[in-house]
Amino acid sequence: MALVTISGFPCSGKTTRAKQLKEYFESRISASEYDGPELSVAIIDDDISHVPRSSYDTSALEKPARASLFSNVSRSLGTDTITIVDSANYIKGYRYQMYCAAREARVRVATIHVVAPPDKCKEWHEKRGECSYKPATFDNLIMRFEEPSSMVRWDSPLFTIPWDEEPPFEDIWNAILKGDKKPPPAAV
Ligand code: ADP
Ligand code: MG
Repeated sequence: MALVTISGFPCSGKTTRAKQLKEYFESRISASEYDGPELSVAIIDDDISHVPRSSYDTSALEKPARASLFSNVSRSLGTDTITIVDSANYIKGYRYQMYCAAREARVRVATIHVVAPPDKCKEWHEKRGECSYKPATFDNLIMRFEEPSSMVRWDSPLFTIPWDEEPPFEDIWNAILKGDKKPPPAAV
């Protein structure tokens, strides 16, 4: 039914947001006023795609990691599922590829940009301890990050969520349930 792509710096709070979104969607689906089709919500992330943090150390390792994530996403897409992709998703071309798969599967899309300043991400990264990135990899992922843009159709509709704000849950729900009512962005 929908593909929700989460994008953000390493340790910016992507997984936290993915879980909050899943919980919110499930509460809407089970609410008595919901009269849409039966839906389940799936989170596809690096862990279930067997992508360890070290995959981001080199592009040779990252390529098959991305392919593994992509095939899990493709498999999950369907009219009865809301698929949330919880990964860095920091490459424009990769988000485009997922968007095309979503179109092919005839599901709606939304992109969530989880935003926290690099210093905050670093602080959280140090606190988290386990499953950490190498320092150089961490910095690289921030440097290479290709920010989602609402001007391109594959990142649109785009919801930008600062770390210290409540996500616009209802707007995101409406976007995937009813589609984007705004005129389509100019083709790029
Ligand atoms: P990511 O999935 O991007 O690596 P996580 O959601 O796992 O990030 O969060 C990384 C760490 O940062 C966690 O330990 C979490 O407690 C903390 N964290 C994430 N988002 C916030 C937030 N908005 N405010 C405070 N701490 C946060
Ligand atoms: Mg995570």
